[in-house]
Amino acid sequence: EVELRRISKMYGSQKVVNEVSTRILPGEFFVLVGPSGCGKSTTLRMIAGLEEISTGELLIGGKPMNQVPPSGRNISMVFQNYALYPHLTVKDNILFGLQVRKVDKAEQGKRLERVAEMLGIAHLLQRKPKELSGGQRQRVALGRAIVSQHPICLMDEPLSNLDAKLRGHMRTEIRRLQQELGITMIYVTHDQVEAMTMADRMMVLRDGEVQQVGKPLDVYNHPANLFVAEFTGAPP
Ligand code: ATP
Ligand code: MG
Repeated sequence: EVELRRISKMYGSQKVVNEVSTRILPGEFFVLVGPSGCGKSTTLRMIAGLEEISTGELLIGGKPMNQVPPSGRNISMVFQNYALYPHLTVKDNILFGLQVRKVDKAEQGKRLERVAEMLGIAHLLQRKPKELSGGQRQRVALGRAIVSQHPICLMDEPLSNLDAKLRGHMRTEIRRLQQELGITMIYVTHDQVEAMTMADRMMVLRDGEVQQVGKPLDVYNHPANLFVAEFTGAPP
């Protein structure tokens, strides 16, 4: 369980995340959604430990995390631009984290084989990122997050550079992987369709403040305010 207790982020005198509270359940696909600049990435980065929490408390599995560095949080992350290492092969990109942690070689091989098969990239392992299509790179980034076998995965607009068709396909694929592996997912998007189709529950943010948390259909059918209604495209 990931618990946010009145988490805020200040940049100078500007409060860009304002007392966000919620509990994300184990195995849940939880989506943070809202317009550009509403504080989604900042919130995710605070959960990951890449950004200091100004005030409030983050707990994972009941343990206080504010002072724990990213590597101690048992979390993996996938960003918008994938951030693959250009000089490494697909195989070494995927295994990088395990190599750093000195995971046993046989175990590395087993995990690599499994994720490569799951993601359909077994034939690409010796290539460099620049020899891949956008969708293939996306799968490598997913593979790298998955081999770490962390119970929690954070994704920040991971599909935004892909064309519409591939985006639809990858949505399904990410959901399937998440369910198959029982991962807790916290997924950021500004796309309400993506939120509605992928989320178990979604949190709608506006100017750093929570507008509503709920199942997509409940949010759609019972928007908490006009902003949520307009954002989800529900009829008035
Ligand atoms: P997008 O959908 O465009 O990615 P977002 O919801 O992820 O938007 P954030 O990146 O969390 O938004 O930014 C929230 C607000 O904080 C924005 O107004 C942004 O300009 C501001 N901000 C983000 N990072 C910093 C920073 N390092 N210093 C000052 N302000 C920042
Ligand atoms: Mg963002």
